Amino acid sequence: MSTYGIDLGTTYSCIARLDSNGNPEVIRNNEDDSNTVASVVFFENENNVVVGQAAKENIETDGDRVVQFVKREIGKLPPRTYEFDGKTYTPVEISALILTRLKNLVESQGGTITDVVITVPAYFGLEERSATKQAGELAGFNVLSLINEPTAAALSYCARQFQEDRTILVYDLGGGTFDVTVVKMSMTQNDSGKDVQKINVLATGGDDRLGGKDWDDKLFEHILHACCDESGLTPEEIEAETRQDIRGKVEEAKRKLSKKQSAKVRIDVNGSRTEIVITRADFERMTSDKVAQTMNFVESTLQKVPDAVIDTVLLVGGSTYMPMIKNAVEEKFPGKVQQHDPDQAVAKGAAIYASMLVVEEGSSTSSGETSAETSNGELSPAQSDHAEQLTAKFAVEDQTPRSFGPGVMDMKASKPKYVLENFIKIGEKMPAVFSKTYYPMENNQERVRLRAFENMSTDDVVIPCVDEDGNPQATDPAHNVKLLGELIVNLPENTSRDTPINVTFKVDASGVHVEAVNTITGEVFETFLRTESDIDVEKSAVHQLRISSD
Ligand code: ADP
Ligand code: MG
Repeated sequence: MSTYGIDLGTTYSCIARLDSNGNPEVIRNNEDDSNTVASVVFFENENNVVVGQAAKENIETDGDRVVQFVKREIGKLPPRTYEFDGKTYTPVEISALILTRLKNLVESQGGTITDVVITVPAYFGLEERSATKQAGELAGFNVLSLINEPTAAALSYCARQFQEDRTILVYDLGGGTFDVTVVKMSMTQNDSGKDVQKINVLATGGDDRLGGKDWDDKLFEHILHACCDESGLTPEEIEAETRQDIRGKVEEAKRKLSKKQSAKVRIDVNGSRTEIVITRADFERMTSDKVAQTMNFVESTLQKVPDAVIDTVLLVGGSTYMPMIKNAVEEKFPGKVQQHDPDQAVAKGAAIYASMLVVEEGSSTSSGETSAETSNGELSPAQSDHAEQLTAKFAVEDQTPRSFGPGVMDMKASKPKYVLENFIKIGEKMPAVFSKTYYPMENNQERVRLRAFENMSTDDVVIPCVDEDGNPQATDPAHNVKLLGELIVNLPENTSRDTPINVTFKVDASGVHVEAVNTITGEVFETFLRTESDIDVEKSAVHQLRISSD
């Protein structure tokens, strides 16, 4: 049984494994004659749910029975639900339908699939990650691990072109999102003293509402106006059917323009056939502001890591097939741009990572078999050799997707403030552990409400961005502070305000563990904050811990 890597994308998903020579290969979607599957679900009727291109074709005609961009909803609170034929679906369940389609792709070609690695954006927090894993399990997979999309892309690049110590900027322009990530590859020694290449995420940026869809929209407007010019009609006079006809043809025209200098589109304008020719130059002119927007995000992401010197820029995502993208990035990073299978690189990297994991674990996978087999079920020596070589070369460290820390009182400030002390910083190696000693606010305090926060700050130790009730303050959205939950620490009678309370945060792939120890009584209080943080937090500022004993 092979292990598989899955890129569960906002607009397109892709699945890959290692072939009999140990090279990553994508499982073709023969039905749509494509390497990817559109992440679109059409609830045709109560007995039939369609995923992929066929579902996409219903967006214009049956839009209210189609779900797309579900990745934007996964793990979000409060959870959004979808209602079809009397049944309610969560984003996790819709994502599971897309994953099941990928599973069927493998099985229809004679493969068996259980163990997978699924990719997630580097900026996904714990909730989104856990929901993605849940979707995988619901589709019947054993999810070996999740891996960040840019890390997977870097892994797939380095597997083909091994280089020591590189700083890579991953420019990922997909269908609905734009992600910029700076990753660092560095040589280090693993636990057994072997030299391995470590991949670290240094900075992330981008926009989850910027992608190929914006290019489609511009082209749509352009064709609509060209139809008006040809027919002498006003845009308002153009019938809904004509609009649908245009909508259905823009993506194809856009793809043509990536290969050719011009594309012809035939449209039935209110019943009469019209031919519109679009040149690449026109297309580039009408979308140049979008290209500039992506380059601004590149700039602002680079500003987060002023010391980083970029060695290579990887172009990832289907939209980087557009020559205007490569040209713009080349202009900023001359001679440094690399582009290999931009719509498959993430899935391929995940496939490499999946086989690294099973080689590391020996035969301890769910199936009890090793990663790589040939079609007759025999282990291919080339496959396992290659996977072993990769394992020897790379170590992908699991990193904390966010920063974490408790909310405590800072009494040193001229006016006491409730602050968030960042214990564990985004990008730290997991499992990450940090402890610190705090003290009750006053003598005879009955209890302590110890709140745990997630945030995006990379460097601040103390962030004054929670109000007295422990709610994130709207005035500081930059840090993206989110309350995860709280731990109640009951204190015995007559507890002095000098009683040290030792607070520990531990973060691993499954969540945040918070522990508080009354070091005088030895009593331990702990809680595990997973992602479904429906924890009821009482709004009270009275029972807190303070930073130092003074
Ligand atoms: P996701 O956003 O799900 O990560 P992809 O990385 O596969 O998905 O990107 C999908 C986007 O890439 C879509 O907007 C699609 O139209 C666009 N795309 C795919 N191939 C081409 C091409 N040859 N030329 C231009 N755009 C393309
Ligand atoms: Mg993608």
